[in-house]
Amino acid sequence: MTMAGSPVRTEALFDVLDPATGEVCGRAPDCTGEQLDAAVAAAAGAWPAWRSDAAYRRRCLAEAAVVLRGAAGGLAALLTMEQGKPLRESATEVARAAARFEYFAGLEYGPQVVEDGDEWRVEVHRRPFGPVAALVPWNLPLQLAAAKAVPALATGNTVVLKPSPHTPLATLELGRLLAGVFPPGVLNVVSGRADLGRLLVRHPGIRKVNFTGSTATGQSVAAAAAPDLKRLTLELGGNDAAIVLDDADVERVAEGVFGPAFANCGQLCLAIKRVYVPDALHDDLVAALAARAGQLTVGNGADPATGMGPVNNRAQFDRVTGLVADALAHGARAAAGGHALDGPGTFHAPTVLDGLTDGVRVVDEEQFGPVLPVIRYRDTEDALARANNSPYGLAGSVWGTDLDRAASIAERMECGTAWVNAHIRMTFTEPFAGSKWSGLGVSGGEWSLHSHTEPFVVHRPKK
Ligand code: NAD
Repeated sequence: MTMAGSPVRTEALFDVLDPATGEVCGRAPDCTGEQLDAAVAAAAGAWPAWRSDAAYRRRCLAEAAVVLRGAAGGLAALLTMEQGKPLRESATEVARAAARFEYFAGLEYGPQVVEDGDEWRVEVHRRPFGPVAALVPWNLPLQLAAAKAVPALATGNTVVLKPSPHTPLATLELGRLLAGVFPPGVLNVVSGRADLGRLLVRHPGIRKVNFTGSTATGQSVAAAAAPDLKRLTLELGGNDAAIVLDDADVERVAEGVFGPAFANCGQLCLAIKRVYVPDALHDDLVAALAARAGQLTVGNGADPATGMGPVNNRAQFDRVTGLVADALAHGARAAAGGHALDGPGTFHAPTVLDGLTDGVRVVDEEQFGPVLPVIRYRDTEDALARANNSPYGLAGSVWGTDLDRAASIAERMECGTAWVNAHIRMTFTEPFAGSKWSGLGVSGGEWSLHSHTEPFVVHRPKK
C-alpha cells in the first residue's frame, strides 16, 4: 500500500507477470483488511483540511502533472512491462494522465446563484462526499487511475485507489511519486488480489464508488454499494459498432477503423468491436483490413519495432481464443490471423473475421482483444437496427462521404458517444457516459465535478 506521505509496509506480496514473457516482473503488496481500514481512515482523516482549500488543491494538482511528466519514461516502461502495450502507447497514456491533472488544476467552480431578488438570495454550493473508492481495470491502468482520482481530488474528496491485480506496479509507482505532492492520506493506493475490491466497495468509510471494469463486476459493485446508498459511477463494457455506408472510401475507412480496433491489442472499452459493411464494399474492406493486420508487428511492447503487444493476462487470452474458435466453428473465415501465436507470452495474431453475422458470440459479446468481425448488410436501416440491438451502449461510429447523411445515422445510434469518420476521439471537456449496460453516471469535465459532489442549497434573506 502507498499512502501519500507515509508508505506502509506490508508483509505479503503477490506476483505480477509480464504478459510478453509469462515471467514474474514484480511483486505488489497484498493489502489485508486491517491495512485497508488504515487507508480509509487516513482518507477520512485527511478530508477536512483537503476539502477546505480549493486554491491549495489546484496547486497540488498542477504540481502532480509536473511530477508525472518528469517521471514519464520510468512510468511508461513499468506500464509496458506489466500491461504489455507498446512503449509508444504507454508514453501516450502517461501523457494523458498528466494532462488530466493539469486540466483539473485549471478548473474553478463556485456557488451558483439561482435566485437574487429583493428579499432572498438562493445559492447552490457543491459539497464533496469524503473518501472515494476508485477501482480500475488492467487495460489503461494510469489513464483510468487519473480519470477517477483527479476529479475526486479536485472537488475536495480524498481517494483510495485500487488498481487491477494484473497491473498494480505503475499505479503504485504513481502513488509513490505523488506522496511528495499531496498531504498524507489524500491519495492512497492499495493493491491486492481478488477480494480487495469487494472489501473496498463495502467499506463503511467509503462514501462514493467510482468503478471501471466489466459489466458483470459493475453489477455486483452496484449491489454491494446499495445497502448504505453509496454514490456510484460505473464505466463498464462496450460492444462498439462501426457502420460503413455505401458511399464510403474503403481505403480511408480501413485506415480509420484499424487503429481503434487493434490499439492496445483491442483491449479498449471504446475499441471498434464489430463492423457493418454493405455487400458492395465488403470484400474490398475485408482485404484492406486484413492487409493492415498482416503488416502489424506483434511482439514485446518494450521492443520499439512492436506495433501490437500481447493480450494482458491468461484468462483474457483464453477468452479471446475461445471466441475465435467458436466463430470459426460457426462458419467464419479468418481473412487475417485466426490463431494464437507461439508463447511463452500471451500473444494472439491480429484477426479479421468475415462470413459471420449477429448471433455468433464474437459479434454479440465484448471480445476485448485483437479480433474484428466484419458483417455484411444490404439495407442501412437494418445495419443500424443490428448495431443498436445490443445490451451495451458505449459508443459507435458511421463512415461515409456524405457527412450529413452519416451524421443523421450516427445521431440514431443508441450509445453515449457517436462519431462520423472517426472513433475514440475524446476531449477532457465533454461528458462521457455509457448508456444501457455500458455504465451509470457521467464523467468528463464539469460533469465529473458534479458527479463528485452533491448540491447544498442556502436561502438567505436580504434583510
Ligand atoms: P473487472 O471488472 O474484472 O475488474 C475491474 C476492477 O474491479 C479491478 O480492479 C478488479 O480487481 C476489481 N474487482 C473485481 N471484482 C470485484 C468485485 N466483486 N468488487 C469490487 N471490485 C472488483 O474488469 P477488467 O477485466 O479488469 O477490465 C476489462 C473491462 O473493463 C472490459 O469490460 C472493459 O470494457 C471495461 N472498461 C470500461 C471502460 C469504460 O470507461 N467504460 C474503460 C476501460 C475498461
